[in-house]
Amino acid sequence: MELIKSVAEMAELGRKWRAENKRVGLVPTMGYLHEGHLELAKQAVAENDLTVISIFVNPIQFGANEDLDVYPRDLEGDLAKAESVGVKYAFAPEAADMYPTGFATTMDVAGVTQTLCGASRKGHFQGVCVVLSKLFNLVQPYRAYFGQKDGQQLAVVRKLAQDLNMPVEICGVPIVREADGLAKSSRNVYLDEECRKQALVLSQSLQVAKRLYDEGERDAGLIKAAVQAHIETAPLAQIEYVELVDAVTMQPVLKPEKPAMLALAVRFKTTRLIDNIILG
Ligand code: AMP
Repeated sequence: MELIKSVAEMAELGRKWRAENKRVGLVPTMGYLHEGHLELAKQAVAENDLTVISIFVNPIQFGANEDLDVYPRDLEGDLAKAESVGVKYAFAPEAADMYPTGFATTMDVAGVTQTLCGASRKGHFQGVCVVLSKLFNLVQPYRAYFGQKDGQQLAVVRKLAQDLNMPVEICGVPIVREADGLAKSSRNVYLDEECRKQALVLSQSLQVAKRLYDEGERDAGLIKAAVQAHIETAPLAQIEYVELVDAVTMQPVLKPEKPAMLALAVRFKTTRLIDNIILG
């Protein structure tokens, strides 16, 4: 495993691989790796000549009152885990190297960022788009891998890459879950025992939606109400949103005809969890 810490060194390697016609897979992460991340990495290793995992807690995608300072980190553990699935390069830059004094560029993908997490986390997707653009320019990947866990992020990066003709194929990977259904997340470590137990209502409520949809229900209001009612059986759950949106545009739908994403964000005490399911 080669650890690259410097932005200049990453740029040099990216150029070299491109000149050698190497097909590079990129897996962008914020570290504290779990099996969800490793599923992305495994797919990248299987499909490309070499794989780079980036490990960077991107400060500009966090809001002022969010968990940037306490976000869990374990670089050594991450390197061992990534290596165990065949990743040969890890890029873990310092924030000051990615965003030197005077950094001034912002990016805004309209429409697709205006709902769900984009509505409640102002500036979040602008920060995501800037860091991904930088990573794509540095690593020059042939393919980049993203989890369906962050369904809106996947839709945003697809739109970004398409609109700007970025020479990278965006690959989506299904959500990896714990045995009991909770979507794996680095933030799950924040959950105390009580919250961990109650957080099960999230994946269960998505199954409620799926069952209704499979039975032929197409009234978004009714599906959302059933999901909400199930989440509310957990006393600690504080719903931020439950939405049914078009799977590509992320705009709310009243009656799902094309594939739609039932997405939710729920707080358990101070921990904010997201989950989703594609219907249709
Ligand atoms: P993060 O480190 O949380 O920014 O996640 C890095 C990448 O891993 C993103 O593309 C996530 O969507 C993906 N990811 C995180 N958790 C999961 C999961 N449980 N299943 C699949 N992909 C995931």
